Amino acid sequence: MAVDTTDSRPGHSESTKKLPPGMVMGKDGKPCRTCSSLAAFTQQTKGLKSAAGAATGAAAAAAATATASSTPATPNDCPADVETLGRSTWTLLHSIAATYPTRPTPAEQSDLRTFMGVFSRLYPCWVCAEDFQDYMRRERVRVGSRDEFGMWLCEAHNAVNVKLGKDIFDCSKWEERWRTGWKD
Ligand code: FAD
Repeated sequence: MAVDTTDSRPGHSESTKKLPPGMVMGKDGKPCRTCSSLAAFTQQTKGLKSAAGAATGAAAAAAATATASSTPATPNDCPADVETLGRSTWTLLHSIAATYPTRPTPAEQSDLRTFMGVFSRLYPCWVCAEDFQDYMRRERVRVGSRDEFGMWLCEAHNAVNVKLGKDIFDCSKWEERWRTGWKD
C-alpha cells in the first residue's frame, strides 16, 4: 500500500518522514498511541529510527496494522494501541447490534443514530475516525431494525478490512459471529 509522506496536516510535518512505519502522529504533533501499532510506538519512543518513510493518514493506520501483526500483542495493562482499541471497539459495536431490538422504537432508533454520530467524532484514533466519518457520510447508518443495523455495521467493518488489506467477512454470518454463536 502506498505511503503518503507529504501530508501537511498538523502532526504531519517534514519531521514525520523519519518515523518508523506504522507510526502516526497526533494533531498535537506528539506520537499518537491509539493511532499506531505498539511496535511502532515503542520504536519511536525509544528513539530508534527506521530507514523507511513515515506513514500518515489512513495509509499510516494501515501500515500500523501490518507492522503490529508480526509483533506480540499489547500487554493487558498497557494503553491500547490501534489494534487493541479496534478489536475492543468492534466487539462493543457488534454486540450493540446483536442486542438491538428487532423492532426498535423511534426513540431507540434516534439513540443509536446519535450514538454512532458521536462515536465517529470521538473515536480515539483520529485517522480512523476521519475515514469512518467519511464512510458515514457516504453510507448513512441504518437503524430500522437489528438486521438492518447489523448488516450496515458489517459492511462498515468490511470497508475498514478492505482498506487494511484484511479478508472480507461474510455478512450473512454476522449474527452467528456476534449473537447466536456458530452453527456446528
Ligand atoms: P478486527 O477487524 O478488529 O475484527 C475483530 C473480529 O470481528 C474478527 O476477528 C472477526 O471475527 C470479526 N469481523 C471481522 N470483520 C467483520 C465484519 N465485517 N463484520 C462482523 N464481524 C467481523 N485500524 C487501522 O490500522 N486503520 C484504520 O483506519 C482503522 N479504522 C478503524 C475504524 C473503526 C471504526 C474501528 C472500530 C477500528 C479501526 N481500525 C483501524 C482497527 C481495525 O479495524 C482492527 O480492529 C485492527 O486492525 C485489529 O484487527 P483484527 O484483525 O484483530 O480484527
